[in-house]
Amino acid sequence: MTPTQSLRILRHQLHLSYSQINTYLSCSLRYFLQYVKGFAPEHTSSALILGSAIHASLARFYDGIKDKGKTESPDSLLEFYRDSMSTELASPRAPVMFGTDATNADELLALGERLLRAYLANPGFAGMQVVATELPLSMPLVTPNGLVTDFALVGAVDLLLRDQLGRLLAIDHKTARNALTQESIDHDLQLSAYTVLLQHNGYVEPGQMLHCCYNVIRKLKTPKIEKHLTSRTTADTQRFSRIANAVLSGIEAEVFLPCTGWQCSGCAYQERCRGW
Ligand code: SF4
Repeated sequence: MTPTQSLRILRHQLHLSYSQINTYLSCSLRYFLQYVKGFAPEHTSSALILGSAIHASLARFYDGIKDKGKTESPDSLLEFYRDSMSTELASPRAPVMFGTDATNADELLALGERLLRAYLANPGFAGMQVVATELPLSMPLVTPNGLVTDFALVGAVDLLLRDQLGRLLAIDHKTARNALTQESIDHDLQLSAYTVLLQHNGYVEPGQMLHCCYNVIRKLKTPKIEKHLTSRTTADTQRFSRIANAVLSGIEAEVFLPCTGWQCSGCAYQERCRGW
């Protein structure tokens, strides 16, 4: 069974993912429209399609190292990327909304190819062992008082590496135009979610600090690869658990409100929101 199939099975249970938590935090009405009502999006962002194809390509790149001990040739990997992108573009859930980075399908395909070529020229993480890619994980969501809820926390770690000292490094791949600040990375909830999932599933001792990294491929004319190291401690995982439970309480109490702001411009539920 592939990691994607395993993750799909984990998502059959009553669950919250980091993405759902983040959606609720940025706009609870959007969470309602997307996850409670299950409405189809009004458009699909080209950035999402690009990110998905790049993620799949990086998983294949690191799977090659894990399974065969060597990297796949760039030509072969680029062919895989083009196939992934073509599949994504051929069957989007909704009309694709292109941005300024790439204004049509051809430009998007070319942009992704530039990003991937830049990454393959300088992937980094030399000498580290690949433990897993797209690692699907699940655990019961527990309240800060230790009560087990009906919900599971579900997620997939993009890449898990081990260094020569045996320490794990949890990595999240990102494609982004703008640079990330270290402060935003240090407080980002996704890596905290990774940490609680890895602790619960035995990859890291409970309470043990986890080293993490945002592996950012910048969508610039000349793409840049930026690796931002950070870590997660008990204070971070406790904060994440409090936030996840507060989100769950809001969902169960049916607190769903529009939160108008910068996030509205890319929202795929603007028509539904106006009719709310
Ligand atoms: S348009 Fe804005 S306020 Fe409305 S659902 Fe989307 S993000 Fe929320």
